[in-house]
Amino acid sequence: RIAAVDGDAESGVHAFLHVDAEGALAQAAASDARRAAGEARHLLDGVPIAVKDVLATQGLPTTCGSKILEGWVPPYDATVVRKIKAAGLPILGKTNMDEFAMGSSTEHSAYGPTRNPWDQGRIPGGSGGGSAAAVAAFEAPLALGTDTGGSIRQPGAVTGTVGVKPTYGGVSRYGLVALANSLDQVGPVARTVLDAGLLHELIGGHDPLDSTSVDVPVGAYVEAARAGATGDLAGLKVGVITELSGDGWQPGVMERFAETVDLLKELGAEVTEVSCPTFVHAMATYYLILPAECSSNLAKFDAMRYGLRVVPEAAANGAPPSAEAVMKATRDAGFGDEVKRRIMIGTYALSSGYYDAYYGQAQKVRTLISRDFAAAFESVDVLVSPTSPTTAFPLGEKLDDPLAMYLQDLATIPANLAGVPGISVPAGLAAEDGLPVGFQVLAPALADDRLYRVGAAVE
Ligand code: GLN
Repeated sequence: RIAAVDGDAESGVHAFLHVDAEGALAQAAASDARRAAGEARHLLDGVPIAVKDVLATQGLPTTCGSKILEGWVPPYDATVVRKIKAAGLPILGKTNMDEFAMGSSTEHSAYGPTRNPWDQGRIPGGSGGGSAAAVAAFEAPLALGTDTGGSIRQPGAVTGTVGVKPTYGGVSRYGLVALANSLDQVGPVARTVLDAGLLHELIGGHDPLDSTSVDVPVGAYVEAARAGATGDLAGLKVGVITELSGDGWQPGVMERFAETVDLLKELGAEVTEVSCPTFVHAMATYYLILPAECSSNLAKFDAMRYGLRVVPEAAANGAPPSAEAVMKATRDAGFGDEVKRRIMIGTYALSSGYYDAYYGQAQKVRTLISRDFAAAFESVDVLVSPTSPTTAFPLGEKLDDPLAMYLQDLATIPANLAGVPGISVPAGLAAEDGLPVGFQVLAPALADDRLYRVGAAVE
């Protein structure tokens, strides 16, 4: 299937940056042997999976969609990768993404865009467009993504797949190349809510290698999905977030959203409107905190330790270029425009004299956003909104307009700032363009099971 539809940077879905056919077939053969021998096996043993190229895979290239890591092969596995290998899931390869997970369309990949399988002239969302498109195009039944501001949920919405951002700390970040440490979370991409739950149970749980990992048992997501699939939501309290709809939201998206809210009522849920007034500041807050963290994270790409090294010409007097000159030339050639933009914003926001006014202020607003969530969850069990304000837009449409691109994540960013879990489930197609719409469900921290119950009831 990958050979038939994936193509390359110029045409086809281009979900994969690297396909490991040989490795996957060997893992599949080992799985067959375990079955033949009657060994006890994980439910997902033998089910192939695609892995976002931001997760370290021992012996397989890991580029993060960047030229600066071209050719880098990690000497170790991310914890989530170690877990899927131990359970016997063959790894099909590494999926395309916006460079260092910065973007909402996968067009910021240094290796060419991924195309939406529903319409190859359109974006598959981002930054995890490769993982979502691979699942939507039936190239893989499961994939791993990462969500810092929406990069699992928004690609899920625009490709008609299921994407889950777990509670912060619920899934190990060890071996995930950090975009923003305080926001990043690894999560499942799947075609059904039940499949996502199976994968989430496998990758979740405490990891001593990640100091932010929470030491609580993994939730019963499969059981919750099965309960939801019976269609009984009697007594469940659902809050529709006032601030996350209205002007500027595509009419076809709002129609499918309203329909899904009606379905919740039919299934017995009590639906009310809930206001989270600080959510209107979530975008501004995120675009200070994220650049601050990523400018610091990306300092490690110094031409000495990983991947690319560009050595400028020796000076006229024959003196070799300084380490700083090598670093400058390498970072200039290795990073794309969006990455450079965020490094500049982040270093500015962190610089002495501006730190309190920008970064410090953003941290305070972040606390207010968490308090809005806490207040809302005193009266409702889950919050809902459309996942994304629009369906998949044409390739190129927002590439030269960073603000328009950032607005894609209006509804997904608050969850990352507060560390709460969220899911995007397919909610049908928009009337005006026939493209998939996503329905977002948010739950309190460590109540990820509610996402599966509600998601399975409406999918
Ligand atoms: N689109 C958002 C950004 O560009 C989210 C990215 C993500 O979740 N990795 O930062």
